[in-house]
Amino acid sequence: MNYTILPFRFERFNAEEYLLTNDVGEYIFLGNEDFDKFVDYELDPQSDIFKDIASKQIATTDKVEDVVNMLATKFRTKKSILRDFTTLHMVVPTLRCNSSCIYCQVKRHESTDHSADMTKETAKNIVKCIFESPSPCIKIEFQGGDPSTDFEMVKYIIEEAEWVNLFKKRDLGFVICTNLTLLTEDMVKYLKKHNCYISTSLDGPKEIHDVNRPLQDKTLDHHEIFERNLGMIRSIWQDKECASALMTTSKYSLGNFKSIIDEYIRLGFNNIFLRSLNPYGFAKEQKDKIAYPIEDFIENFKEGLDYIIQLNKNGIFFKEGYSALLLKRMLTPFATGFVDLQSPAGVGIAGAIYDYDGSVYVADEGRMMARFKNYAFRLGNVNENTHQEMFNGEKMHMILNDACTECLPGCADCVFQPYCGADPVRNLSEQGDMIGHRPTNEMCKKNKAIFYYLFELLKKNDPEINRIFWSWIR
Ligand code: SF4
Ligand code: SF4
Repeated sequence: MNYTILPFRFERFNAEEYLLTNDVGEYIFLGNEDFDKFVDYELDPQSDIFKDIASKQIATTDKVEDVVNMLATKFRTKKSILRDFTTLHMVVPTLRCNSSCIYCQVKRHESTDHSADMTKETAKNIVKCIFESPSPCIKIEFQGGDPSTDFEMVKYIIEEAEWVNLFKKRDLGFVICTNLTLLTEDMVKYLKKHNCYISTSLDGPKEIHDVNRPLQDKTLDHHEIFERNLGMIRSIWQDKECASALMTTSKYSLGNFKSIIDEYIRLGFNNIFLRSLNPYGFAKEQKDKIAYPIEDFIENFKEGLDYIIQLNKNGIFFKEGYSALLLKRMLTPFATGFVDLQSPAGVGIAGAIYDYDGSVYVADEGRMMARFKNYAFRLGNVNENTHQEMFNGEKMHMILNDACTECLPGCADCVFQPYCGADPVRNLSEQGDMIGHRPTNEMCKKNKAIFYYLFELLKKNDPEINRIFWSWIR
């Protein structure tokens, strides 16, 4: 034995090759013969192929402790997100909304129904609780309903947080998630003044957007108002990055990814996040009407990604956000702050949501489940519990016990594990328990297929594709 093999995961990638990965996300493809020789300790340590393997710290001829120390440094970098604890704090000032999206995950209230509006006392306690988080960065994201229906409460929370931050001195930022339709010039000027960025939803051209996201007032044209207000926001802000958009794929979006991407470009966005439907709220209740087999989404995703790569090849910088996140994990040692793809899962420890009544949930989807009487992800209430009780309580620990891909059945041996994340909320919602069952898990199917496709593209070693991928990561 003239070399030491270090821990790695592997899977047959195709008939001729294996893919090998290690805990820090280094990867290498080995032909069948090389793979057999490698695991039988028959590779020549002076060969180029062994040197490649050693450069990935999958085997070594050096002192093992030195390589393990190097791996430990990379592993700490990859998990550095854990150091800061909760950074993203989603706050729901009200459940009121003027839309009636077909996949709405929230039990939204009519615009005139004030029964789910936050009180000032609750808002104050929420801000106090948020600043108990040790994170040096605090991002407060307003969710709904549509928070613009209670803009006074949004203002109250922003100003309260800014006041508290005079003493706490964190890196404080705000985002408001809104359908844009109720925003006025005065509101936008206020948001700009307080550095509150805008996150919105755009599902594609008018015929798709308006089917997926109709307004409650059927006489109004959602897409037209959206486009007009987007122009107004950008002209006040003088910065295109002030508003970002997310799309959701309903059954009506399938087969239309090209026109959806074209619409994003027409409206001046330089990225899209091709998102499948989440199985919560109305989306779960309306499954038969608006959902689709995950395989259909995967096919559409690949076509969409190919189209986006071609656009970039033609000189249009445009990024697919989900691929960019995964590529960052695959190609760099750095952590991504994406709550849904972490191990341990980002639930509670990277992001948390504070409902209009002060209830705290580990994730937005946990709050959606509570609307349907499932309180598995409710940590407590800011009006009754301390930060310590909620974020270091028994429930938080119990949830995280089931949320590390390193030890989940199916994930522990998966070659894509270093890049993937656990989602106990989705597992419970879809499969009845927080651990879930990988062979029948839709999220797993989707992630596996996308990882596989991205690795196929990387394996082509096409300098243009590589350049495009790096431009997305940077
Ligand atoms: S998804 Fe958001 S914008 Fe649409 S109806 Fe629900 S709360 Fe309103
Ligand atoms: S969820 Fe699926 S793709 Fe992700 S690590 Fe687990 S088994 Fe692998």
